[in-house]
Amino acid sequence: MLKVEPKQGILDIALYEAGSAPKAEERTVIKLSSNENPYGPSTKSIDAITRHAAEVHLYPSTNHLDLRQAIATRFGLNDKNIICGVGSDEIISFLCYAFAGPGDEVIHTEHGFAMYKISALAAGAKPVKVRENNRYTDVDAILEACNNRTRLIFIANPNNPTSTMIDAHKVQRLADNIPETCILVLDGAYAEYVPNFDGGASLIHERENVFMTRTFSKMYGLGGLRIGWGYGSKHVIDILNRIRGPFNLSTLALAAANSALTDVDYVDKSRNENTRLREWLSNSLSNLGIESDKSYANFILARFKGSEEASACYKFLSNEGVLVRQVANYNLPNCLRITIGDEVACKRVYESIRSFLESVG
Ligand SMILES: *Cc1c(COP(=O)(O)O)cnc(C)c1O
Repeated sequence: MLKVEPKQGILDIALYEAGSAPKAEERTVIKLSSNENPYGPSTKSIDAITRHAAEVHLYPSTNHLDLRQAIATRFGLNDKNIICGVGSDEIISFLCYAFAGPGDEVIHTEHGFAMYKISALAAGAKPVKVRENNRYTDVDAILEACNNRTRLIFIANPNNPTSTMIDAHKVQRLADNIPETCILVLDGAYAEYVPNFDGGASLIHERENVFMTRTFSKMYGLGGLRIGWGYGSKHVIDILNRIRGPFNLSTLALAAANSALTDVDYVDKSRNENTRLREWLSNSLSNLGIESDKSYANFILARFKGSEEASACYKFLSNEGVLVRQVANYNLPNCLRITIGDEVACKRVYESIRSFLESVG
């Protein structure tokens, strides 16, 4: 019998539910459950992994200078204000460990990304859920929820799983009005899908207490390698670096991410195809009576008549070999989140939903 108790809050953590994945023998299954890039990684990333394979007996870089410089160049930022992590999940967790502990509060929105709550609890802090306005982040509701115990406020823009986005004026109003004793974290996991959007970086140039997280898992097609980054004031970056493991990113991850940034054509093609197919799928489903909010990301949140219809459709699609995401754990039991795949995948999920609706009459 284990006689050691975990810290307070740990047993309140509900395990993260990943999108269902096909079994090895189900090769024709289409996976639209984790917002992955349907075109795979850039060939430049694959080449970089191959080139560096023979070096993996050597420890990787500890300060990630090459990757930070490549990110800085690509996005017009300063490399000294960047920290790299094992996915942006690790950056989220650094923020919670560094800034929030017992007695502190961490704000996330009603249908915000699950890792905010998980990381807050793991750090011993109290997650505080703030209502949205019909699936849109509500700046006033967040400001009302702030108090002198608030340490971190997480918003994803665009948000997962809602796919909605709030405009730059609203984000700026939030940044201008939060207490000085807390940090606003802008999660830009889907920023690359929004044309001409900087993820909120410009707000950070003027403010020490605004921070941005980004990832190579979505647009850059490198979810399996686990690479993310954070951008913020030098002060915050220095604090986070104190709790970062010295070798948190592998040689292959660093090389693949670095090369991915040079493949502008791949990003442009992925974004353009995503926009085209997303509009097609959401319009086609709307014609069948399945509505979704205007999406700014690489997925849509399809709304069904009720939770029973959504579950039945999920099962029907799974039997047809089309895996989408149930979001009842996000308190959206009447919805299914559908990643925008390639053209074949979009046509197939549409046809399957149409068959399902015909089957239930
Ligand atoms: C997918 C996602 C992440 C990222 O994850 P990684 O750890 O970088 O793979 C972060 N935030 C949101 C909102 C996401 O949807």
